Amino acid sequence: YFVSFEGPDGAGKSTVLKEVLAKISPRLKPQYLVTREPGGSKIAEKIRDIILDPANDKMDAKTEALLYAASRSQHVEEVIKPALAAGKIVFSDRFVDSSLAYQGEGRGLGIKEVKQINDFATDKLDPDLTFFLDVAPEIGLKRIEKLRPDQEDRLEQENIAFHKKVYAGFLKVRDMYPDRFVTIDATQPIEKVVDQVISVLEQRMPE
Ligand code: C5P
Repeated sequence: YFVSFEGPDGAGKSTVLKEVLAKISPRLKPQYLVTREPGGSKIAEKIRDIILDPANDKMDAKTEALLYAASRSQHVEEVIKPALAAGKIVFSDRFVDSSLAYQGEGRGLGIKEVKQINDFATDKLDPDLTFFLDVAPEIGLKRIEKLRPDQEDRLEQENIAFHKKVYAGFLKVRDMYPDRFVTIDATQPIEKVVDQVISVLEQRMPE
């Protein structure tokens, strides 16, 4: 069973995921694997560093989309597929939907086009369940400024107009996959967000 966490920058994905796993029923613990994008394996993390390096400010949008897809391909083959094959529950901090929102809509490459290269990269692997942690881009960016004022990566330096496009992209992607998308209001206090995620997991995950 494959679960992804999606949302704009500052939605709190990483924190929520950490807290969910701390609280999740002990019965599930031995069977889960937590990973993140862009990265999740040695090669994939190296590609992540290229993507996020502020020095690479001349990176072409297609290069960026292909690097994300390359990183993801390695992540899928090396980490996600073997875990799923072993019957584990995989939780990933971001997956293809992020590329559809950031590179497809944000960079203007087109959601359909970016989906195609990702279908190739992942052999069309789709999450079974996707949590969309919903926060308006203005609020998300404010949170990030407070959290990490000096260590911004290349994408976080993008302006508000870019992040608004990304957010609109997430809403489009959510509408494309109504069956697996669950929206959680990420402006709520963290404990509430965590409790709602856990209650959906309990309802949806196979025994
Ligand atoms: O989720 P996390 O904060 O680790 O993401 C790292 C950066 O990569 C963020 O600034 C995010 O906006 C960016 N990103 C992106 N395209 C993706 C995935 C993440 O631009 N497909």
